[in-house]
Amino acid sequence: MRAMRIVLLLMLFSSFAFLAPRTGVQAAPMAKSSNIVEGRSETTGVSARAGNAVFPESGGIREAITDKHQKRYQEWKTEFLSTDIGRAQWEMYAHHPRIVLTITISDSNPEGAGSGKYKWNEAGELVAATITLGSHVDQGFPSSVYYPVMNALEPFESARLIGGTVLAATKLAHEFGHVMRIAGTPESLYKLQVQMVPVYNKIFLSNGHNVNDPRLVELAQKMGGNPVEIWEDREYWGEANAMMFLRDRVAKEKFHCRLFGKIKQAVEEYAKDYEERFAEIAKSQGAIYSCSWK
Ligand SMILES: [Zn+2]
Repeated sequence: MRAMRIVLLLMLFSSFAFLAPRTGVQAAPMAKSSNIVEGRSETTGVSARAGNAVFPESGGIREAITDKHQKRYQEWKTEFLSTDIGRAQWEMYAHHPRIVLTITISDSNPEGAGSGKYKWNEAGELVAATITLGSHVDQGFPSSVYYPVMNALEPFESARLIGGTVLAATKLAHEFGHVMRIAGTPESLYKLQVQMVPVYNKIFLSNGHNVNDPRLVELAQKMGGNPVEIWEDREYWGEANAMMFLRDRVAKEKFHCRLFGKIKQAVEEYAKDYEERFAEIAKSQGAIYSCSWK
């Protein structure tokens, strides 16, 4: 089962460029490895260049949005900020003493989103991250296997119970989930994973897909899981934050139990090991708890 999932993920990554628009929100450990490691020399540059326009002394949110995307971006942002959780998370980064969170829009991978360009200071604290939203992030539903929350919106969008703006804001919430998680991950562990995942995959592809290979067992121990486990854990944290956003957003909608029932079904089918983090969110609000997520 594990070996199968790794093979499937490797296939996905190898055809990544082709699949990206359909698979949607992503931060594949392999595909993104060139993007996510920012060296310590860059990091020390933060204090050296303090006051410089590139890295202000304190944190905050920097919205780098071109004119042609401005209108839709404002609609997505307004949707995100229409919820308590969206406002709270936005405020946290808008007034963050240290982290500069850049939000930008890209025409590549138009229906997806991603987070990266992480930087740490000398104390190992996160000081910079970038969320990139696709220019058509208000369209496209990623697979229920790794995206049980975003995927669950599809029938409700088809039935016009929600619009693309909610989908876009949910993807933004997913990315906020990634950034918050990275902020709580030791820089050393993150960089170790970035270095070791390709090594692991190379051995895995050459040993007949044997996850019990002692070399792979040792690598997985060092980096806190095999590449699939690391990937799943990251994505399901993104999805957990997306679910928090939806919990607030649809709390008063008649269909909220149906939506959360669909999320629950996908989590039970594909993410059983991670069910607790979704169940906790469901239990954190009476309205959804009454939808019988046990
Ligand atoms: Zn993600």
